[in-house]
Amino acid sequence: MEKIIFNKTKVIATVGPASNNKQTLKELIIAGADVFRLNFSHGSHEDHAKVIGYIRELNKELGTHISILQDLQGPKIRLNMVEEGCEVKGGDKLIISTSDTVGNAKKVSTTYKQLPQDVKPGETILIDDGKIELKVDSVKKDEVVTTVVHGGPLLSKKGINLPSSNVSAPSLTPKDIEDLNFGIENDVDWIALSFVRDPLDIIDLKIRIEAAGKDIRVVAKIEKPEAVRKIDAIIEATDAIMVARGDLGVEIEMEDVPMIQKRIINKCNLAAKPVIVATQMLESMIENARPTRAETNDVANSVIDGADTVMLSAETAAGKYPVLAVKSMTRIIKSVEANYESIYFKYAEPNPESPDFYPASLVQNSVRLSYETQAEVIAGMTWSGFTAWKLSANRPKANIFIFTGNEKLLTIMNLIWGVRGYHFESHISTDETMAEVEKILKKDGYLKKGDAYITMASMPIAKKYRTNMMKLKVTE
Ligand code: PEP
Repeated sequence: MEKIIFNKTKVIATVGPASNNKQTLKELIIAGADVFRLNFSHGSHEDHAKVIGYIRELNKELGTHISILQDLQGPKIRLNMVEEGCEVKGGDKLIISTSDTVGNAKKVSTTYKQLPQDVKPGETILIDDGKIELKVDSVKKDEVVTTVVHGGPLLSKKGINLPSSNVSAPSLTPKDIEDLNFGIENDVDWIALSFVRDPLDIIDLKIRIEAAGKDIRVVAKIEKPEAVRKIDAIIEATDAIMVARGDLGVEIEMEDVPMIQKRIINKCNLAAKPVIVATQMLESMIENARPTRAETNDVANSVIDGADTVMLSAETAAGKYPVLAVKSMTRIIKSVEANYESIYFKYAEPNPESPDFYPASLVQNSVRLSYETQAEVIAGMTWSGFTAWKLSANRPKANIFIFTGNEKLLTIMNLIWGVRGYHFESHISTDETMAEVEKILKKDGYLKKGDAYITMASMPIAKKYRTNMMKLKVTE
């Protein structure tokens, strides 16, 4: 494994025109990207297939396990084309129609045919990340008549949010289903679902992935007020959460986002579910080579709050400084993690009622032991990933290395806090396996003579039981 950047908090870089070539992807990996996000709101399947090919080639060439996250657009509502130079101001009337016409300052049209059925008089419609605010006056069969509250330029294809309405669109649109089939065929590692409103949206997606016989994990993007209300059930249903602050900050009051972010991170930490903080983290780096102090603080505070992963969007997809943006992020993370004691987290307490109680308790105690003995490393062996997830959720100061014969797990795990994977076929004998693990970690410079380390495994190894053994050793 190439020792590139060894922060515990992981970095997602979104791929786009600024980064979708092999050389830039390589530089992003070397700068510290752990996961590449392919945003299916943009780009063709051909473009995405090329990027997936490059990432897999680079994983082989660099010895990395960079993860691929497919982000499905979901029921995103947009304006159709609008004539150039159109602008509305407060008090103007604006009609939104469902016909496919080119819009102007009096009448625009939308991609969402159900709009007149979903909105009611008095409700709010937001355009272009809330820059334009409209109040619904009346609704006709294929038109919605509104009054402009806050005006601004009307631009083609901009997003529409309906913060006070019940959107009836299904969570997976026909485009999402086509994109999902592409993701399944290409065996991506994670699939993110946008505009999740209910845990059933996640369960539906998981059933489709399972029916295809793939191990692809699911991220629920929290960007609707309904999702915030049902957060506990969504955390239970999903494999990971993304606090998608772009749309969330439009759908709810922007001043409520910080506390919601903190609450969601805390709940995910307790449930041992990875949590990603996303959007506008280093926004000014789209144009500038240095982030603002406020952005630096935002990344640092997300790490301190307990995020597993922080995400770059347009900074790496369309910005002028994609590599510098990842470098800045990893520098901020490194500085916070150097003050490890300041990182706030709660232990995911094992539940005595759960069938996983014994292995979960063993993992938690290994983390306690690592603090007590100042162990440098906790090495785990797993096929399912259970030990990796639980070790990560207990946030040890020791470095976590996971040895697995399950190659797909290596790239899946790259998104979660602190975990680094090794492909490894265990020996029949436990002693030989343990000796081999120590040899590898010494060779790669993660252990030196005299360092204490802990190994978690299941004995006898050939039986592939749940983790049932913990060993504390001093490196020879
Ligand atoms: C967001 O809204 O914060 C987000 C991550 O979603 P997208 O970039 O897909 O709009």
